[in-house]
Amino acid sequence: MKIKFYGTRGSTPVCDRDFLEFGGNTTSIKITQDDGRICICDAGSGIRNLGRDLLNDGLQQPELFICFTHFHWDHIQGFPFFAPAYNPNMIINIHALGKDREITNLEGIFEGQMKAEYFPVPLESMGATFNFLQLDQTVLKIHDAEFRVIKQNHPGGSYGYRVEDNEKSVVICTDIEHGNSVLPEIVEFCKNADLLVHEAQYTSEELESHRGWGHSSYDQAIEVAEKAGVKKLAITHHDPEHNDTFLAKIERECQKRYPSCVLARENMEIIL
Ligand SMILES: [Zn+2]
Ligand SMILES: [Zn+2]
Repeated sequence: MKIKFYGTRGSTPVCDRDFLEFGGNTTSIKITQDDGRICICDAGSGIRNLGRDLLNDGLQQPELFICFTHFHWDHIQGFPFFAPAYNPNMIINIHALGKDREITNLEGIFEGQMKAEYFPVPLESMGATFNFLQLDQTVLKIHDAEFRVIKQNHPGGSYGYRVEDNEKSVVICTDIEHGNSVLPEIVEFCKNADLLVHEAQYTSEELESHRGWGHSSYDQAIEVAEKAGVKKLAITHHDPEHNDTFLAKIERECQKRYPSCVLARENMEIIL
């Protein structure tokens, strides 16, 4: 399995010069299974480059799955710019897996952001065939991989994903707030993963003044990784106020405590 980060920024894209090492695009992750088939997690602004790369690589797959952690703006805003969605031969399955989702109209979310007031092309004119799958279940088989979800603490709700393919596992926990100590059910969900992608938008000091904003600190991401015994940790969803110098310093500090930890950079690919 291969995991490639096309968006590592939280909340809003940034394009300032000193943000480009870690990346300015918001969350979108390409998951390539061992048989070569591709799934996507989230459609932040990074999905534009992801779609371009799929086309440049001569995408043969007629059906794509995009799974969503949740539908905050920074996780859906790239969707209108996802080139494969304009291909009439393409089937795109948009899925929201998990019990107790607070959304009631999955299609309406995508339709809404492409209304004439906001965007010149309506959803129904994009070209691809879309299937909107809001599934009240916690496990789904996609191609040869198993996708499992867990509900996370985040305003409006968000879901963490665990993907198992050919005896390798990746867990993606973004947009999650733990509280005073890391949540035991999240640690359990991440247990022994080959890769944990965990968000950390804040330092421990910053977290104090951002209680209720729905995010984690670097220390908490590491604590989950340590307690769950994961092989590698990639920290993502960087705060739009944290520039490259700041994040590079944080990464060095994190690696002192957890050597197999990196701060995710745009276009970084991790092979499991
Ligand atoms: Zn977010
Ligand atoms: Zn969010």
